[in-house]
Amino acid sequence: MLEPTIPFDPSQFALTGRNFELGLSENPFPPLPSVLDALTSVMAQANKYPEFLPERLPRVIANRVGVAPDQVVVGSGATGVAMQIMQSVMTTGDRIVFALPNFDGYPIMAGIVGMRATAVPLDSAGRQDLRTMAAAIDRRTSVVVVCRPHNPTGTLVTAAELERFLAAVPKRVTVILDEAYVEFVNAANAVDARALVAKHPNLLVLRTFSKAFGLAGLRIGYAFGSPQLIERVRRWQLPFGVNSAAVAAVTASYAAEHELKARVARITTEREYLRNSLLHLGVRVPRSFANFLFLKGPGIASALEDVGILAKTYADGSARIAVGDPVASRAVLRTLRAAARG
Ligand code: PMP
Repeated sequence: MLEPTIPFDPSQFALTGRNFELGLSENPFPPLPSVLDALTSVMAQANKYPEFLPERLPRVIANRVGVAPDQVVVGSGATGVAMQIMQSVMTTGDRIVFALPNFDGYPIMAGIVGMRATAVPLDSAGRQDLRTMAAAIDRRTSVVVVCRPHNPTGTLVTAAELERFLAAVPKRVTVILDEAYVEFVNAANAVDARALVAKHPNLLVLRTFSKAFGLAGLRIGYAFGSPQLIERVRRWQLPFGVNSAAVAAVTASYAAEHELKARVARITTEREYLRNSLLHLGVRVPRSFANFLFLKGPGIASALEDVGILAKTYADGSARIAVGDPVASRAVLRTLRAAARG
């Protein structure tokens, strides 16, 4: 079994007595000092408006991703960008296809923009069923969403499954490849999103600074894709809608990428340790490629909640918990070990 890399002081847990908020898949680490410094400097100018429409941020991101600036659209988190995408390609009453359960934002935003949702159940292993999703696309469908990794299970569709799916989707349908957690995927399982975008002009890759970059409170997300499609999505950009801290935070984060990668490694090591320990206890947990674990089974969510561990809960009693905080991992293990003993 893997040991966590973060030294664990049991007295810390005994003394904290605090609730653990593990329901939002947040990064447990506070902003890096260099990022905080950059933010502080911008805050001194908070009386000034940001750019009317963001130009600098798409340039900074495009440069890092390796695409042209006109292939990037930015917005208020991946959530804001996803909604902009829907608004730009749909007409009222159109359908959006996604797997369920999923990131709650998709059904919520579909409702806001007036799209009807076609929800395709996950397979028994907690994976998105791309064949059924492709088959669910009809002539009223304008958007289909594939998450890689998937939320809430953390599972991955394979590169081959994704290729087959993209080849099967009609070109008039926009595909959102949601890579909100992509930085937690190991290299062996990575897909070349840039190559996919070059091949499929109807594909938009959606990413965020909320998770691996630990900037959820700043609300910065982006999508990249073909210039034609990005141009349509940019038409829905809210004037002054991206805050002036975003460029500074993203630039400082890119400059500190090795430190952020070290944090990601700590989170994924903790994830593997916690999953192995849970499996050992008899809890069913799909292999996760994200910064959370999905604990399957009745009673899990309530057992955690009873001791103040806040998880994202599901109708069948399953729970999704953020990983990375070793103190929280110990609390989860203690609770579920006690529950297993009855
Ligand atoms: N996509 C997925 C799959 C998510 O889980 C989340 C956040 N939980 C988002 C998008 C949105 O992230 P944000 O708006 O914070 O960038």
